[in-house]
Amino acid sequence: MREASELLRGLRTGVAGQPHSPFFLVIAPFVTHYKAMRTAIYPGSFDPFTNGHLDVVQRASRLFDRVIVAVAKSDGKHPLFLIEERKSLVEQSIRGMRNVEADTFDGLLVNYVEKHSAQAVLRGLRAVSDFEFEFQMALMNRKLNDSFETIFMMPKDTYTFLSSRIVKEIARLGGDVKQFVPDHVQAALSVKLGLKKDKESPKSVTQTGAESAS
Ligand code: ADP
Repeated sequence: MREASELLRGLRTGVAGQPHSPFFLVIAPFVTHYKAMRTAIYPGSFDPFTNGHLDVVQRASRLFDRVIVAVAKSDGKHPLFLIEERKSLVEQSIRGMRNVEADTFDGLLVNYVEKHSAQAVLRGLRAVSDFEFEFQMALMNRKLNDSFETIFMMPKDTYTFLSSRIVKEIARLGGDVKQFVPDHVQAALSVKLGLKKDKESPKSVTQTGAESAS
């Protein structure tokens, strides 16, 4: 970092009155870019990626130079999709967003954040019910590593009721999830769940008591 600021100073003032070296001129844009880069990590299970997740990513991509959607292994949650499948669904969802990328990680989030020199971790806040857990996790992460901030983002109000879990429940029961997930996620759900669409009699989600978000 010290070297970078010295290079920048040299670029602004010239070094000892000498003309700038071609080396400085070539690397200058990269040095400047490196200094200004703001990276945010958006971690989650994304099992699967929903329009609510996408809404958060779109908002974050306007605030940060680089957003990494980090798909957690989350074995403890017994995900429906394999980690590489979840990553692939994210990749297809963020196609065309030039400063957003997808990745996978396992282990402590703070280590992953450090590895990428990120300034922020993004989490979505849908309702008060999310708050207690998220608050606890953010403070614990701060105890482990105080060098980044956890930023909470609210999705568009129409997505505040949406969760991956509820989408899976609806799909399992033969309901239409078109309005909740990107098209390729809907297709992947049908394949994964081995569903034949029964458009005549979509069952209600409440039959499984899946009203609450996760
Ligand atoms: P996790 O297992 O970490 O909770 P999820 O994939 O369920 O992973 O969620 C990842 C993040 O996205 C969490 O911060 C969650 O609150 C947020 N999130 C989930 N669904 C939505 C939604 N509909 N709108 C906004 N944020 C959401």
